[in-house]
Amino acid sequence: MRNFSIRSRLTFWYAATLGAALVLFTAGVWFALVHSIRHTVDRELRSRLAAVRYYLQQQSHEGDESNLTQEIAEDIDAVAATSLIRIRSAAGEWIYRSPGTRAWNVIAPNPETLPENGSLSTAIVRGAPIRILSAPLSIGLVQIGLSLTEFQSVQNLLAWTVLLGSPLLMLAASLGGYWMSGRALRPVDELVMRAQSISAHNLTDRLPSRGTSDELDRLADTLNAMLARLESAFERITRFTADASHELRTPVAIVRTTAEVTRAKSRTPAEHEKAWEVVLTQANEMTRLIDDLLLLARADSETDAPLRELIDAAEVLREACEEIRVMADVAGLSLNVQIPQECILLGDPADLRRIVLILLDNAIKYTPKPGGIFVQLSLDGSTKPRMAVISVRDTGIGILQDDLPHIFDRFYRASRDRSRKTGGVGLGLTIARYLAERHEGYIQVESTPRRGSTFYLFLPV
Ligand code: ADP
Repeated sequence: MRNFSIRSRLTFWYAATLGAALVLFTAGVWFALVHSIRHTVDRELRSRLAAVRYYLQQQSHEGDESNLTQEIAEDIDAVAATSLIRIRSAAGEWIYRSPGTRAWNVIAPNPETLPENGSLSTAIVRGAPIRILSAPLSIGLVQIGLSLTEFQSVQNLLAWTVLLGSPLLMLAASLGGYWMSGRALRPVDELVMRAQSISAHNLTDRLPSRGTSDELDRLADTLNAMLARLESAFERITRFTADASHELRTPVAIVRTTAEVTRAKSRTPAEHEKAWEVVLTQANEMTRLIDDLLLLARADSETDAPLRELIDAAEVLREACEEIRVMADVAGLSLNVQIPQECILLGDPADLRRIVLILLDNAIKYTPKPGGIFVQLSLDGSTKPRMAVISVRDTGIGILQDDLPHIFDRFYRASRDRSRKTGGVGLGLTIARYLAERHEGYIQVESTPRRGSTFYLFLPV
């Protein structure tokens, strides 16, 4: 059954259900009919028995038993010649037999063995069924019969109707079911065809919704929502790949040009040394870029779970600041640090270090001298869970209002010229935000152009 189409299965179940209902209904009607016929016939027989008994009682009051036979014959013949009645005397002789009973091949029972209200049986006389009531009388035995032929023909009619009608009905129902399920499933076929025609080239296409808000519309809406997600993921990947290749092109070009120029004529050892240096610097930059790209690719596939170990954020922050201090000095910037003794939270020290270094590195990159960088670690007890807040404030160039919503996007650089000089590719904040979210934290930023920026890193304690 599994290999059949939904249409065939629907038709099958439809026909099967109808067939079962038909069988049950017919059985019910049959049973009721047979029961009712039997009940009617038996009641009729008993009422005739009562009439016979009443008549005999009247006769016995009127007197002489000797010519009873004669009288019964005359009286009953007048009223019951067409009914099936026969009366036998206690001596075993037939006192009366209506014409229809002469052919009876039914053995008359011994009246002494019969109950007072008689016993019922069915016999076949010349191929026709007859219901017979045998009952004891004061003068012997009476047998009253009632032909079942007419009832039989009603039963036969019902049987034939069911036998001939059922297959026709089932056939009609199956055809109707097949047609109806085909009609109901046609929109599914249309959906399938439309869905099949959608590929990477026309991901903007959507499946039609018929506005009926039924199951199929819900299916189309669900598929459309999936398509929308696919489209945006596809777009992100395309943009990401384009940006990544674009960023890798520059260092590769530098390496190639350096190699070509160096090889063009004979060079002094010092010139070779310089060329190697350029190659190495560019190689390092490419390595860093590739590492960043790999990290973000992993972030997209969401396969790595955060490390859950207890770390001292204060210590991590202190070490990062010490590391960056030389850079700040070289850039002519003051670095002011306010960190408490200890701040324990769950996380990965390498990740935390990376976030802090990205924020500090940006602060240095985007602050002209003379300027200052202020680092603080505090606890925000007003939230649940409590948050450790690491703030990195600078007195640098700040970020334009229009750029603020985008600075966490991949490869986004607010001021491309400036960033290129400072060597960023626009992945730092993307990575910082991803790592913060991996720790169930987040990053916020406040900035005034030409006044400076403050980045806040919130991490649950
Ligand atoms: P980049 O490698 O270019 O620094 P980021 O993702 O770290 O990339 O930052 C994205 C952009 O946000 C930067 O290009 C810069 O324009 C802006 N930005 C980040 N930090 C600061 C800051 N402290 N002051 C001013 N602008 C900043």
